[in-house]
Amino acid sequence: MNKYLIPDRMIPSFDMLDVDDLKERNIDTILLDIDNTLVGHKCVKPTPKVKEWIQTLQKEGFKIGVVSNANRSRTEIFSRDLGVVYIHRAAKPGTSGIRKALKLLESVPERTAFVGDQIFTDMYGSNKVGCYSILVKQISKDESLYCKFKRILERMVHRKMQTESDFRK
Ligand SMILES: [Mg+2]
Repeated sequence: MNKYLIPDRMIPSFDMLDVDDLKERNIDTILLDIDNTLVGHKCVKPTPKVKEWIQTLQKEGFKIGVVSNANRSRTEIFSRDLGVVYIHRAAKPGTSGIRKALKLLESVPERTAFVGDQIFTDMYGSNKVGCYSILVKQISKDESLYCKFKRILERMVHRKMQTESDFRK
């Protein structure tokens, strides 16, 4: 299996992120997907829980950025409410959006964690850049047909990961 598809870590939801583990790994930057990672895709603004969580991370000294494949208005409205830098239409699994975010934050991949819900976009892209990739369980099952199809492929990857227990780190 392609090594870029394999997350470095899997967690049930964004708020289960292990801050101490990230610090031990010398990570100072956290990049975030929006849809189905922080909120369901119909949720326009960050929930109080998301806001609080991001504020906590910022107080802990982490730089935060949003990297989304969504359009400008979706990404902008969401990220401005959080007061974090953002890249819209990031074209994940391409790496240019993630690299742009790192540049804006003056961060490097080796010190960056990427949190997302999709193996074929978030994990592939962030692993390729060299970030520490963290897969969360998708928030909403209410997705487009295209996403549903990708989920079927993702389940195949998951099954293969379980049989190989093929974690990179
Ligand atoms: Mg997503």
